[in-house]
Amino acid sequence: MVYPGGVTALSDVSLDVAAGELVAVVGPSGSGKSTLLNIIGTVDRPTSGTVHIAGQDVATLGDRRLSALRAREIGFVFQQFHLADGLSAVDNVATGLLYAGVPRRQRRDHALRALARVGLGHRTGHRPGQLSGGEKQRVAIARALANRPSLVLADEPTGALDTATGQSVLRLLRRLNEEGTTIVLITHDRGIAAALPRQIEIRDGRLIRDDTLSSAVPAHDGASGR
Ligand code: ADP
Repeated sequence: MVYPGGVTALSDVSLDVAAGELVAVVGPSGSGKSTLLNIIGTVDRPTSGTVHIAGQDVATLGDRRLSALRAREIGFVFQQFHLADGLSAVDNVATGLLYAGVPRRQRRDHALRALARVGLGHRTGHRPGQLSGGEKQRVAIARALANRPSLVLADEPTGALDTATGQSVLRLLRRLNEEGTTIVLITHDRGIAAALPRQIEIRDGRLIRDDTLSSAVPAHDGASGR
């Protein structure tokens, strides 16, 4: 992946993520982790190489079909939550479903269900300013999950949280993974990464380590780019 201006952010990376996996991406700042996540998430297109999501080569899709695939299959979680301050928790989650084409009435029901799933059924009317950091991240995770995507991509989801809160967000992500969602998460925290079933390490845009504790399974979702 070469950015305009000539920075090569990723090179020779080949990675398969199978359905149901939980993968930690580690590496120093600037090594290309977010770029990798954005390419897997089809937000960025690689300069060369291919990305397959749920068996489909995303390069063959036009913008509309790509947006639809993204809305249907992929949920995003960010370090800084990216919630709208003026909206209640339920509206923050429901708004995310707009792009997935979910009819208005169902959006609220889906959002309430997603908030209950992350343990926030009692905070649905609260705005972000009335929630703790951990609760905000739960709202963001509920938003990512509301449309039941097969894949959740999380860029430093615990990076803005204290250790205990981060651990509880991590437990939530692990539970969602056990319930079937594939998760790829970036973390600076070696302790968090070491506890996850698979770790990959990126350095200077290259994949330098891929340790997996689970037995190899055929790939359903995959990404490779350079
Ligand atoms: P990480 O997530 O590991 O901190 P990034 O993927 O954000 O690393 O960045 C990898 C490299 O690509 C860095 O050198 C960064 O400066 C560069 N980079 C990231 N995004 C862009 C962009 N939109 N335009 C130009 N260069 C970028």
